[in-house]
Amino acid sequence: MDSSTEVSSLSSLAAGKVPEELVNFINNSSRFIIAGHKEPDGDCVGSQLALRSALLRMGKEAIVCSAGPFKRTELKEYINQFTDIPADANKINTKVIIVDCSGKERTGEINDSLEKFQCAIIDHHAAVSHPASTPEAPVYVDSNSPSCTFLIHKLIAALGLELTEEEATLLLFGLCTDTGFFRHLTEKNAVVFESAAQMIHSGASPKKIFNMINGGKSLNSRILMGNILARTESHFDGKLLISHETLAEYSAFGFESRDSDGLNQMLLTIQGAEAVVIIRQECADNCTVSLRSTDRINVSQIAASYGGGGHRNAAGLTMKGDIAFVKLKMLESFINIFAS
Ligand code: AMP
Ligand code: MN
Ligand code: MN
Repeated sequence: MDSSTEVSSLSSLAAGKVPEELVNFINNSSRFIIAGHKEPDGDCVGSQLALRSALLRMGKEAIVCSAGPFKRTELKEYINQFTDIPADANKINTKVIIVDCSGKERTGEINDSLEKFQCAIIDHHAAVSHPASTPEAPVYVDSNSPSCTFLIHKLIAALGLELTEEEATLLLFGLCTDTGFFRHLTEKNAVVFESAAQMIHSGASPKKIFNMINGGKSLNSRILMGNILARTESHFDGKLLISHETLAEYSAFGFESRDSDGLNQMLLTIQGAEAVVIIRQECADNCTVSLRSTDRINVSQIAASYGGGGHRNAAGLTMKGDIAFVKLKMLESFINIFAS
């Protein structure tokens, strides 16, 4: 295949399947608020900022909003691009686009301010139900998509734009975040690598993105990881591994303690492990829980049963209670899976 055929086939592939309703929704309006889920990750921030850049290039006004908190070190450099929702936004015809989650309720504290607007959704989560798509509120959901940025890439192509270097970098940042740097992809995902190749053709550097996601940690945060690893408990003959981060550790390390992936990844390499649970006590009466699994176990179902969500092999939830209580609840949930 010569390179021109390659590029044109990639463009048509990238433009495929984006709902026309969404393209019209964007083409027919001139002001946008782009929101994402609370506690954003690289996929959410990458999707928001790449889409904003494309909309600005189309001559539209667009801002990115988030309830935060921005807990991951790799997001630090992007925080100052986020703004509050202007008080008069609803007086001027403004549309909302929500990315990387199922709808307004996942946006956290900005949910109420978004209530008045017509809102489109772009998401790749499977465990949740999404509203039906309409021309006034288009919904673009593909639960087979490995990241939301993969959908944003298709959308940008469907809007008739080539990627800029900045957009390509943001899109690859999201793709690498949600795929654990391509680790979770299989022989069925060749098209994702084609999309990644296009991002790299446009100037995104995998090496820089790897260092962004995995570098920049403090020594103390690595020592904390060691402590969390050292207190890992093994249950159900080693199929389930559970550990936790205390409130004192969370308070001392803040977002430095929040390793997007490393800890779960290390625990999942243990022979026989099929699921990993990390419980973080983030305030006196509340914990967040990260769930990861190998292929067989669907942790998004467990997360959803407590009001959380995510993907088959990576999900999360928040729960009232201390670490001991939350651990008990998690063990109860996994009994149904492992003790049968
Ligand atoms: P994390 O363990 O925080 O990296 O999250 C893993 C996945 O689960 C991501 O796709 C999150 O968007 C999703 N997730 C985490 N917490 C929640 C929650 N409380 N509700 C819905 N989805 C969540
Ligand atoms: Mn996300
Ligand atoms: Mn995502």
